[in-house]
Amino acid sequence: MKIIMLGAPGAGKGTQAKKLAAKYDIPHISTGDIFRANIKKGTELGTKAKVYMDQGLLVPDELVVDLVVDRFKEPDCQQGYVLDGFPRTIPQAKALDEALAKSGDAVEYAIDVDVPDANIISRMAGRRACINCGGTYHVETIPPKQEGICDVCGGELVLREDDKPETVEKRLKVYHEQTQPLIEYYQGKNILKSVDGTKDLELVFKDIIDIVEA
Ligand code: AMP
Repeated sequence: MKIIMLGAPGAGKGTQAKKLAAKYDIPHISTGDIFRANIKKGTELGTKAKVYMDQGLLVPDELVVDLVVDRFKEPDCQQGYVLDGFPRTIPQAKALDEALAKSGDAVEYAIDVDVPDANIISRMAGRRACINCGGTYHVETIPPKQEGICDVCGGELVLREDDKPETVEKRLKVYHEQTQPLIEYYQGKNILKSVDGTKDLELVFKDIIDIVEA
């Protein structure tokens, strides 16, 4: 099962991607997580990516594509994967199609988690991320068991630099300009499915399951 999750930053695609990956026992590949792990380790890639991420901008395509294509070569990807946050531009989508086509493969579903901008801005303000494992929570909708502490690893939960309101507005602008055109791109390939991301997260998940099991 090869699935792409689409949606604005904060639409809940990451949460849904993790749930899908767990249900079908396939890897959840988040380019944002890969960059954050690299920043934490202090790698050259991390240092380069951070400059863009902190400003709410996209990391240049050439720093992203090879990273993902290399990840597919790992053995855990044989049964498929859920891509979260990639592709984010038309050139990335085309590069993905070309890389998959080399092995006679293609993406099966592009699932757009649709949420209006106004909801996104209030959602992001409540989002908290673990500084240690990157796990995400929301102060109202997905609260940790203990306030400010990650359920999984006990790390501190913080408002990510790129989730601050001024950066979110920039990220939404970037999303509409550079990522939203992917909706039409995948519509053209007849693999686009849309779900209403304003619903309760379990209901959104059910809608997604209905799509992939139809
Ligand atoms: P995310 O956690 O998916 O919201 O990603 C956080 C940030 O990482 C984004 O705002 C971008 O700066 C960067 N990023 C993640 N994935 C990509 C991608 N496919 N292309 C470009 N930049 C990306």
